[in-house]
Amino acid sequence: MRRFDEMIKEKFGIEEAGKETCEKCGETYTLYHTPKGTVGACKPCYDKEFIQSLDLPTKDEYRRSKVTGVISELERVTSDLVDATVNNYQPKDKTQVKAKEIAKNYIMNFDKEHSLVLSGNPGLGKTHLAYAIAKGVRKMRDDDGNHYTTLFIKSTDLLQKIKATYHRESTLSEDRILNLIDQVDLLVLDDVGSEYIKKNDDGSETWATDILYKVADMRLGKALVVTTNYNESSLVEKFGNNGPRVIDRLLDNAERHRLEGESFRKNRF
Ligand SMILES: [Zn+2]
Repeated sequence: MRRFDEMIKEKFGIEEAGKETCEKCGETYTLYHTPKGTVGACKPCYDKEFIQSLDLPTKDEYRRSKVTGVISELERVTSDLVDATVNNYQPKDKTQVKAKEIAKNYIMNFDKEHSLVLSGNPGLGKTHLAYAIAKGVRKMRDDDGNHYTTLFIKSTDLLQKIKATYHRESTLSEDRILNLIDQVDLLVLDDVGSEYIKKNDDGSETWATDILYKVADMRLGKALVVTTNYNESSLVEKFGNNGPRVIDRLLDNAERHRLEGESFRKNRF
């Protein structure tokens, strides 16, 4: 192949006017005398600028945009939760004061590895704190300056969403959902234990516990926040044969905190 400068000389009859060192990358490039003046350009930098001018997402940005796309398809937040933050959680008991502090620290020190389990009776604001954590972590950035990706989902909704992918018209597939579960920086699984678990006659694992096991297994070594109205032993019992291994994984590398007190919801009735 002929060199570019030979071609330009032959075709346009223009001569080299010397060499120039690129200010940006330090490469040397050739200058030419042309009717429009002395011109030349650093090829690597020119190419780079061209690619930048296309404004294409990087591979990482593309991956993240796919992740956030699936998150927005999955995340459904009830109106009472939308404005929930750690700061506007109002503790009524010292275990709740502690829970608020734990939630704040969890967000500030988010490391993609540590997990948290908030347990306690209904109506103590576990879901409020869990959603506030998902929102709070989402505002934080990793070492590369990218916002963390987080998914907040009720355990029952996750199962229902996966079940819905089995219909032919579904825009999501089970694989895409599980892929997100695997990739998201933080998964917040709300109200674990509220699922309807249909036990087979022989006590073997059902579809629901099988999926929960898959999810818990995928999150091993990755950040997971769980809320539950149950305690450990009643959860194990609820999930049948899969119970011990599901719970083992849910509790792996997790700080556990139990909230006490009277339900916030009591006064509404
Ligand atoms: Zn250059």
